[in-house]
Amino acid sequence: MTDDAAVTVRAIISGSGDAPIIGRVEVAAPGPYQVQLALRASGICHTDIHSIHWPGRFIMGHEGAGVVHAVGKGVTGFTTGDRVMLNWAIPCGHCAMCDHDLPALCSIEAQRHGPHALARPVPMAARENGTEIGRMFNLGTMAEVMLVDEAAVTKIPDTLDFALACIIGCAVMTGTGSVWNIADVQAGQSVVVIGCGSVGLNIIQAARAAGADKIIAIDRCEMVRQRAQQFGATHSLPSDDDMDILAKSVRAITGPGADHAFECTGILALAFAPLKLIRMGGTAIQVSGFNAAPSLPNVELPPFLWNKKYIAALYGGCVPARDFPRIFNMHDKGNLDLAAQISKTWHFDDALAALAEADAHGGKHVIVHEGFSG
Ligand SMILES: [Zn+2]
Ligand SMILES: [Zn+2]
Repeated sequence: MTDDAAVTVRAIISGSGDAPIIGRVEVAAPGPYQVQLALRASGICHTDIHSIHWPGRFIMGHEGAGVVHAVGKGVTGFTTGDRVMLNWAIPCGHCAMCDHDLPALCSIEAQRHGPHALARPVPMAARENGTEIGRMFNLGTMAEVMLVDEAAVTKIPDTLDFALACIIGCAVMTGTGSVWNIADVQAGQSVVVIGCGSVGLNIIQAARAAGADKIIAIDRCEMVRQRAQQFGATHSLPSDDDMDILAKSVRAITGPGADHAFECTGILALAFAPLKLIRMGGTAIQVSGFNAAPSLPNVELPPFLWNKKYIAALYGGCVPARDFPRIFNMHDKGNLDLAAQISKTWHFDDALAALAEADAHGGKHVIVHEGFSG
């Protein structure tokens, strides 16, 4: 049954740097090309923790999966009851970037990220006490029900758990897509991964599935390096403040340097570090973006020599209709471990404790919902 009414539900609300709260919001009925989604799982990533310090009042969360509760006019791809997940780079479908098959770089969508992360192309999607409230990345997945643009929605296989599906929309897409779409790693090549958190582990798994010969995991934490090896890294190295020492160690394993190096820490000082670890003509990729102010550290020219490519990649070049089914397939075949990436799942009632835990100790935490039935 399609219920096209507004609903009042619980949501995690951030307010100008104060500690988040669980509040109540009214979620509007779906308008044209909009989907009202009953969330069943929402992942917490570093960007969510950073978002607590963003100005304004908004519904948190940008990783979500759930069941379609109602659809608006013009929605043809989804119907009530469909199991779906969300992507946070929501393409408009008709700008120059979308026309170039680069929907993750949609020029309309780009205006909604960075300092404009709370801009609202779906106005009045949600209200708190009668006043409109923003939604992180136009999603706001930390709510029992949310209204989203249909371009943010992808169907998931019946066999895929919601908790696993929700993490695909961020770190999994960013990591696997960086291997497939940005670096285009080939069988027999060598890969270095700097920082082996959520994104790094997905790079390692995708590189292994692509047939990479040597996968070198670099991390300051020994436990994380061991974990990276369980996910498919063939070598590991402790991080070193002196990149020249690290470069020497990488050359000892790869010969001329790695074919590809991925920087996944988001630490500004490491922005150009992957250039030192690749061979001439290799590819250096800054994968995760930066949460800090976007000013560049001193840039030296020599690490670029010769014929090296440097790519600051957004969202692994995500093309939802192409890449998400590829990820489902990889998981289905046993080549992508999603469950092992999740540190802990938390009931929605304990969402604030989950955020505090993620802030204090890191790891990948997922908030699960019983499912809205009102
Ligand atoms: Zn995320
Ligand atoms: Zn566009």
